[in-house]
Amino acid sequence: MNSACCRSVLLLLFLLTPLAAAETVNRSELVEQASSLRAEDHAAAAVLLDEALADMNLDTLAEDELRDVAALLRMRAELHRGAAEYAEAAAQADRFAVVAEKSGDAPLLAEAKFLRGTVEAEQGRLAQALEYFHSARQDLEGIGEPGALAQIYNAIGITHNFAGDSRRAYRYFNLALEQARAEEDNRLIATYLNNLSLVAVEVEGPEAALALQQEVLTLAGEMGDDSGAALARGNMCNQLVDVGRLEDAEPVCSQALEEIDQLGQTRWRAGVRQTIGNLHRGQGELELALEMYRDSLALAEGVVATVEEEVLSGMAEVLVDLGRLEEAMTTLQRLLALREEMEQNQRRELLEELEVRYELERSAADVELLRLEAQLQSTRISQRNQLLIALLVILFIALLSAAGATRSYRIKSRLERDLAARNRALEEALDRITELARRDSLTGLLNRRAMEELGEREVARQRRDKSDLTVVLLDVDFFKSVNDRYGHGVGDEVLKGLAEVLRNNLRDCDLVGRWGGEEFLCVLPGSDPDKAEQAALRIRSALETTALETSAGPLRLTLSFGIAAVSGRLDQAIAAADAAMYRAKAGGRDAIVRADDGAGRN
Ligand code: GH3
Ligand code: MG
Ligand code: MG
Repeated sequence: MNSACCRSVLLLLFLLTPLAAAETVNRSELVEQASSLRAEDHAAAAVLLDEALADMNLDTLAEDELRDVAALLRMRAELHRGAAEYAEAAAQADRFAVVAEKSGDAPLLAEAKFLRGTVEAEQGRLAQALEYFHSARQDLEGIGEPGALAQIYNAIGITHNFAGDSRRAYRYFNLALEQARAEEDNRLIATYLNNLSLVAVEVEGPEAALALQQEVLTLAGEMGDDSGAALARGNMCNQLVDVGRLEDAEPVCSQALEEIDQLGQTRWRAGVRQTIGNLHRGQGELELALEMYRDSLALAEGVVATVEEEVLSGMAEVLVDLGRLEEAMTTLQRLLALREEMEQNQRRELLEELEVRYELERSAADVELLRLEAQLQSTRISQRNQLLIALLVILFIALLSAAGATRSYRIKSRLERDLAARNRALEEALDRITELARRDSLTGLLNRRAMEELGEREVARQRRDKSDLTVVLLDVDFFKSVNDRYGHGVGDEVLKGLAEVLRNNLRDCDLVGRWGGEEFLCVLPGSDPDKAEQAALRIRSALETTALETSAGPLRLTLSFGIAAVSGRLDQAIAAADAAMYRAKAGGRDAIVRADDGAGRN
């Protein structure tokens, strides 16, 4: 090598060194640049982030660099989330999790899982969201990060609340609150108290919910948080009116009105006026109620459809009570138009969901189920609308003559009956399809998905009642040779016959399902492993005494059983039963093995 060449290599090295250093510096700068750009220009921030993330090699990065990369990925995922590009958001959140895991930073990993769960929750996939949230929770519990843990508990609470499970939501909001109190973060404490209060109405009753709102109010006052205080007072006003404590409600509501008006949030301003309208109505002050409803409507119109709908129907009722029938009619017509619009939107959303799900290649039964659900929803709404039309007719006729009213009542009840019959037929079809989607088409037993779902229900019941629950997994011995010798059709007949034997030898309350090809799962509520073993022996002796009838003549076969008590999670018990069953296979088949003692009975 000549010296000129060496010099140029050295020069190159010299040039490259600062470049490489600049690259590492750039990454943390980029995090800052991109985050300041994020709010104004999504697309530019995305380009910046993609540049920074291109060609990165995780193995060569130091720990703090990994953290920078994680921050970039988090931001990238958030950008997709903001644009409702959920698949991309999920992919970036997954990358974020990988980098976080590599950095060995447990709170960072939990944050990635939290983000991933949020993406699931935003798509309405609550079960998946909960899985991520719980996994994040496990990462955080016991490592002394109360703020982060509180956030996760809160997310779990919100998800349960979405799923309509106020009790679980209540428990997790309480846990979130506990952590926020440990952190002494008043802002968080107020947020979680507020969430807790919203579900406490159902779990502990309105008085408890009120007490919690009072606490929020006090805290907001201490922090000088005007909007928090106004909202808390608005909620209290609402709760007091709901429980009928109208006198107590009066001063709270009028102060809430004043405070909320100062904040200028349209949704809240409309909401508090609606509540005060209800309050006046409760006190028999119909004119005042009407005035409040009008104000609320003017604010809510075109902004908050749900408030608009409730206010219009409240207004119509007040107008009827006041005998101002013509105005009542105009109001009802407005309500009808609004509901039609809402129905159209809902139908469009359902259709979109249907298409998305279809793309995901769900099974035919699922798609049918969704179609029926959509149909049912829309007839429910049109039922409500037709009743409204009937009401309009009644009002119109009542305006002309009092006698006409009876006839229109008849029209209304016929309409009601027709629609109810249509809905019933649809509901029945829905039930049939739901049932079909749960069954294995060959054996008629429950399929794997149904077993998982119903099995979880049994586990929940067992936890509640502290009762016994045992699973039995069984697999046909040398089934392949049946197929090989007699053909697949005869194999199918054997599986059907076996399903019959299982059904006949188990109780009605036991769950029996096809778990895999020639593998079956039984979930036996109220049975300990001894009782489960007796059931297995019963099945075994039934197969010994009677051969299975097939088109190739009677066939005899044996089974290998694995038995495990459920003491925690269902999937763990099934895994234990599976391991026991494999011991039965390894020991020569035609045997019953229990996970607890491992001793086979041959
Ligand atoms: P082992 O005792 O170890 O369980 O032996 P095996 O032959 O029963 O088990 P293996 O897993 O080797 O074979 C299971 C066979 O079951 C293979 C597969 O073709 C067959 N099978 C799975 N599902 C069906 C079905 O729906 N109908 C029929 N006829 N056969 C099936
Ligand atoms: Mg087998
Ligand atoms: Mg098998």
